[in-house]
Amino acid sequence: MIDIAIIGAGAAGIAAARQLADSGLEVRVLEARGRVGGRGCTDTATLGAAADLGAAWLHFADENPWTALARAQGCTVIERDPGWGASSRVRGATPTPAQSAAAEAALGRNWELIGAAAQAGRDVPVSTLLPEDAFRPRFDAIMTWIMGVESREVSSVDLDRYAESRCDWAVAEGLGSVLEGAARGLPVRLNTPVTQVHWGGSRLRLSTPEGEVEARGAIVTVPTSVIHGGGLRFAPPLPQSHASALADLPLGSCNKVFFRFDEAQLPPESFHCLADATRSRTIHFGMRPAGQPLVMAYFGGDLSRDLEREDALAAYAREALGDIYGAQFAGGICGTLATAWNGDPWARGCYSSARPGAADQRRTLSQPVTPRLLFAGEACDENHYGTIYGAWRSGVAAADSLLHTLRTTP
Ligand SMILES: Cc1cc2nc3c(=O)[nH]c(=O)nc-3n(C[C@H](O)[C@H](O)[C@H](O)COP(=O)(O)OP(=O)(O)OC[C@H]3O[C@@H](n4cnc5c(N)ncnc54)[C@H](O)[C@@H]3O)c2cc1C
Repeated sequence: MIDIAIIGAGAAGIAAARQLADSGLEVRVLEARGRVGGRGCTDTATLGAAADLGAAWLHFADENPWTALARAQGCTVIERDPGWGASSRVRGATPTPAQSAAAEAALGRNWELIGAAAQAGRDVPVSTLLPEDAFRPRFDAIMTWIMGVESREVSSVDLDRYAESRCDWAVAEGLGSVLEGAARGLPVRLNTPVTQVHWGGSRLRLSTPEGEVEARGAIVTVPTSVIHGGGLRFAPPLPQSHASALADLPLGSCNKVFFRFDEAQLPPESFHCLADATRSRTIHFGMRPAGQPLVMAYFGGDLSRDLEREDALAAYAREALGDIYGAQFAGGICGTLATAWNGDPWARGCYSSARPGAADQRRTLSQPVTPRLLFAGEACDENHYGTIYGAWRSGVAAADSLLHTLRTTP
């Protein structure tokens, strides 16, 4: 029997395992995939350039422990404002100061309306709070990118609770490679999906294809949609509180398509470009993400889910790129890489979003099921969900809580 089993070697599992490394307890991380990192993964092989398939930005970078880990690994942290939002280019054109100011004001008004409703305790779909003005499609598109769902599915309170990140930095070598480096030396067993957690007795028993693992305590970092979809079962079933929290915090949909170009064909600087400001079903392009010779197309919400299902993300992005920058530019694409996060059986989406009316469920999920069985992961952090920072924080909190239990009870 081991002391602690951690299910999942993503950001939360890595953080929990690092926190427990010097505890003297026997810890094992059981990971379903053949790699660590979960929703943080850098692919350099396919395009010959570092492409972050999932997490790419160090949000809250000035307080985020992953920033120090990146530096400790010798990675280059790019401390530059990303230039998102109202200063993004639109259909390739740089907005005039007046256009930026108008967009900034309209988007700011929407945030205020959402904040006011949330502060008044109204946990409602944000779509019900906003005017249908000329900037509304753009706001709705932003929702799909930051929450992975449409405005009608975004909880006003959940959105309002998200802390504002003022520092968003990238890593030239890829953020996924930082997660991989941080897991080096940890007791991770790859290719070991846990199918069931038996938590009724004094010991926990975890079923895997290679047999059972017995543990005194466990931290479950598996994404909510994987558990809700039956990818990990509990016997006896989870209490209603946690079962409904998992159901109320589903993962949304975001996907990326990377196009490889020759260096000389790309503009020299990194920037962002909105494909179409008049529709919510549109693409956010990143030119030279993290300084790489790539163009990245970001999709969110229904558009992302629909195109992934139709295997049409790359074709759609390529056409939009041609529309904006011309057929000659698009003809320079010399390699393509598309993600499919909803079809990924160990993720089932991008990041969690509370259903309207259910913002408090993050708090519920972060409460121990028993002192020896806890959930962790981005969905558990009320103010930093959807990030590797939130995942880190919840992994560390769960590790501390379990450590306390095991040290104070036989
Ligand atoms: C497209 C996209 C863009 C993103 N952009 C950013 C960004 O720029 N910045 C940022 O901070 N965050 C970003 N995120 C979110 C970030 O990746 C996640 O919040 C974070 O990685 C979640 O970490 P986690 O440990 O909670 O979950 P995961 O990373 O999902 O880790 C869970 C682990 O559990 C494993 N697992 C699943 N089921 C089982 C099972 N049955 N048995 C054993 N193991 C199992 C999985 O394989 C996985 O390794 C992005 C995500 C996506 C998809």
